[in-house]
Amino acid sequence: MKKLEIAVIPGDGIGKEVVPVATKVLDTVAEIHGGLKFEYTEFPWSCDYYLEHGKMMPEDGLDILKNFNAIFLGAIGNPQVVADHVSLWGLLIKIRREFEQSINIRPAKFFKGLKSPLVNPNDFDLIVVRENSEGEYSEVGGRIHRGEDEVAIQNAIFTKKGTERAMRYAFELAKQRRGHVTSATKSNGIFHSMPFWDEVFNEVKADYTDIQTASYHIDALAAFFVTRPQIFDVIVASNLFGDILTDIGGAIMGSIGIAPAANINLNGKYPSMFEPVHGSAPDIYGKGIANPIGQVWTAKMMLDHFGEQELGQKLLDAIEDVTNDGIKTPDIGGTSSTNEVGEAICSRLKEVC
Ligand code: ATP
Ligand code: MG
Repeated sequence: MKKLEIAVIPGDGIGKEVVPVATKVLDTVAEIHGGLKFEYTEFPWSCDYYLEHGKMMPEDGLDILKNFNAIFLGAIGNPQVVADHVSLWGLLIKIRREFEQSINIRPAKFFKGLKSPLVNPNDFDLIVVRENSEGEYSEVGGRIHRGEDEVAIQNAIFTKKGTERAMRYAFELAKQRRGHVTSATKSNGIFHSMPFWDEVFNEVKADYTDIQTASYHIDALAAFFVTRPQIFDVIVASNLFGDILTDIGGAIMGSIGIAPAANINLNGKYPSMFEPVHGSAPDIYGKGIANPIGQVWTAKMMLDHFGEQELGQKLLDAIEDVTNDGIKTPDIGGTSSTNEVGEAICSRLKEVC
């Protein structure tokens, strides 16, 4: 029996509604598998926890989490009661940084039964590998006064190690997919970091002669996401470029409520963390209408991470069948509840497996 210990943090708002649906789906997957078991330990760390304890998680929170095989997170944030920078830095960003989750991966694909805003959404299927620990999001810089003027200086940090790590991950991923990697660059406009990025990309690609490659400037690449996303397989991007691209990825699928994500620790020292792209959506919390697909697809990414790709694919197919059958929450044009969608996914899985 393969036993996986999962730290579950439902968090705030709709996180508390969609996480139980996703763990139920995972249990169905485990039942079908026969030799797999998920053991959940739930932690109430959230903005409510903050109101009671003055912090988002206990002092030894990271020590507790580090013994798990993975962290499964809903959503963090309730800006009405706790400022976003306090809640995010107090939990989410803390975990990402301390657990060296240096890669963020976010897939986007044409989804049957969903209305994409694209003119030609047919059959795109891509995945963005975003460098998650350095790049443009750095604390290096400051403000100076130049004569009458005030100047903010922001340094982007690109280490060879961090850049190469993200790129190698992208190439390895492409081997398991359609064998194509696109680099998101801007070496025609950014003087130091992006020519370096190109250099590292060329070095890494020399080790992967079976993989096709392309390199586009981020402006053109972003436009291609809208006009012809079908040309992409794996895209490797810096922290900022990846952040922007993955929001477009969610948008072209048709709803932020379905987009999944994984924060991957590559050195094996700490657990990886799986969390959907969407936030806590306080505007719809408590109505039972949150779309659980983002969280369930995130569970699928966790299955992939644990080497259960075959069952993961079946789960993704089941989600798509249910959507295509019109069993959808209101954000994607349906009338079903969060739980109804979850139950439909479980039934569909049992039918096909
Ligand atoms: P955060 O700062 O936590 O990311 P946010 O307000 O920026 O929060 P979301 O919480 O993702 O972003 O919500 C953005 C919009 O999308 C809201 O109107 C919300 O209702 C909707 N939304 C987000 N996730 C879902 C979901 N799973 N199902 C239905 N609607 C959703
Ligand atoms: Mg947000």
